[in-house]
Amino acid sequence: MGFSRNISLLALLLFLLGSCSAPAPDDTPKPVSATQQSDDHHRTARYLGNAGVMVQDGDTKLLFDPLFENNFETYQLVPPRIKGALMLGSAPYDDIDVLFISHAHDDHFAADTVLAYLQTFPQVKLVAPKQAVDKLLAAGLSDTAQVFSIDQSPSDLPVLIQAGDIFIEAVTIPHSGGERFAEVRNTVYRVQVAKDLRVLHLGDATIETEPFAVHKVFWGRQINNLVFTPYWLYKNRQRRAALDLYVRPERAIAIHVPTALSDLKNRYGTALDGVDMFTRPGEIRVLDTSPSAGQ
Ligand SMILES: [Zn+2]
Repeated sequence: MGFSRNISLLALLLFLLGSCSAPAPDDTPKPVSATQQSDDHHRTARYLGNAGVMVQDGDTKLLFDPLFENNFETYQLVPPRIKGALMLGSAPYDDIDVLFISHAHDDHFAADTVLAYLQTFPQVKLVAPKQAVDKLLAAGLSDTAQVFSIDQSPSDLPVLIQAGDIFIEAVTIPHSGGERFAEVRNTVYRVQVAKDLRVLHLGDATIETEPFAVHKVFWGRQINNLVFTPYWLYKNRQRRAALDLYVRPERAIAIHVPTALSDLKNRYGTALDGVDMFTRPGEIRVLDTSPSAGQ
């Protein structure tokens, strides 16, 4: 596909620029608009369901894994009230900039629903692994002008994407479950939302540490301000190594949390004590430190 090749060329160009003398993109402050300073535009993370979250910083709004239909009778679905608002683009889900898909599993992504969304909001950019984009094409996606398709294996260098004025890096970390899901491409995004806010979404990243070690330079190149991580990376010290040694989040919120919380706590013992978890769709974390935060 032409757009895939364009991304590859852009990625190469950005990579070369980044490795030469040009200033890194994160050194360029974004202009602060009047609305970003107003009291009613906070910097927030909002839980939608399962691994679905919305991050808002002023006028910038990002969705991760928001539209899926299957919870495997284990995870939080996006409640009809929130899903309806998403599909209608009503506040606070209006004027979305980028929709990210981590991988093409039914508890993260429903091709028909995402297609309907993109047809309703053709200005929204989609960033997704090729496996998800292929499903969208099979479902009838025809306008790919705003689609960024990532064709990347776990050993590949990070892909760099400029989606409008939003800078994105992507690496592929294998899906949890080993051989069973070895063919699934799970894309991890690091999105520069603002000069001081980089948001990462780990999708269904593996519990193995080695694939994280492969990208040691990537994790360490930036401060990873806010990381959405599957809860299973907290199970024990060995699993936490991916976070503790490599990703090193400044702040983390666990997602993909089963609805049977008491059962989870039985299995995990005290491992989740002190871990910030998204469990109730609609709940919000205020991320900014402005005087209006928390009101
Ligand atoms: Zn999955």
